[in-house]
Amino acid sequence: NERMVLQFQITLYGDDERLVMARDITRLHRLEEMRRDFVANVSHELRTPLTVLAGYLETYATYAEQLPPRLAQGLTRMQEQTSRMQNLVNDLLLLSRLEIDRGGEDHLPLAMDALLEEVRRDAQALAASRQQVRVELEEARRLVGSDTEIHSALSNLAFNAVRYTPEGSQVVLRWKAHPKGACLEVQDNGEGIDSVHIPRLTERFYRVDKGRSSETGGTGLGLAIVKHVLLRHDAYLEIESRPGQGALFRCVFPAERLVAAEAAADRMTG
Ligand code: ADP
Repeated sequence: NERMVLQFQITLYGDDERLVMARDITRLHRLEEMRRDFVANVSHELRTPLTVLAGYLETYATYAEQLPPRLAQGLTRMQEQTSRMQNLVNDLLLLSRLEIDRGGEDHLPLAMDALLEEVRRDAQALAASRQQVRVELEEARRLVGSDTEIHSALSNLAFNAVRYTPEGSQVVLRWKAHPKGACLEVQDNGEGIDSVHIPRLTERFYRVDKGRSSETGGTGLGLAIVKHVLLRHDAYLEIESRPGQGALFRCVFPAERLVAAEAAADRMTG
């Protein structure tokens, strides 16, 4: 007794004529579900062997000084690549979970100041002294959402801003009012992005410059994760950028997602 999935297309002709077309997409839908489950299962299964591998490499690394230089270098490469693979597998798993689960069970009013400050600290650590990361809080209301998901979306945007901007750049994390409600912004004054790439940035594995991205340690899944987190919060992503003029990533949340600053967390549960 499988559910049937139909897709409707309604075309209006003048004032009183309509053409309604229905397409049975049950099979397509089922295939899409299988793809998601498969990716989720594979990435989950890959985590344990990768952890074991990373563990052994770490043990060997403590003896690196006793190894001939060429072998020691090889060991470092192996550690780098294992860590890349772990990031990739973790991001794939996170993304497929975001696609599979309905979400919403852990939604609470978030302490926006603490959340932004935490991400700022991590982004500043990644930037070291190359860039400066700042927080601007201009909105008192709180967002009702999943702390882990919003944290992960904001981290992805902030880490990108650090990774794709040259030394001396500024990165700002901002929570402010918006005509539709409120928005979380991550702005940088780095190299920016050519407009041809902007509509495709949230696709899985889409990268502007493949060579550079693998150097920066990205997985190509960051913005896809951001997009899915926002979908689960009735929000959307806007990207404003011009080459040479930095980039602005804006996550817009509707007013229904906001509560007054003093709202007690326990009143929002359930
Ligand atoms: P990645 O893991 O490659 O960073 P993302 O999905 O997070 O994957 O980003 C996709 C691409 O968007 C990146 O490879 C990069 O080319 C571009 N990009 C993302 N953020 C910025 C930014 N702040 N400035 C310039 N380019 C960016």
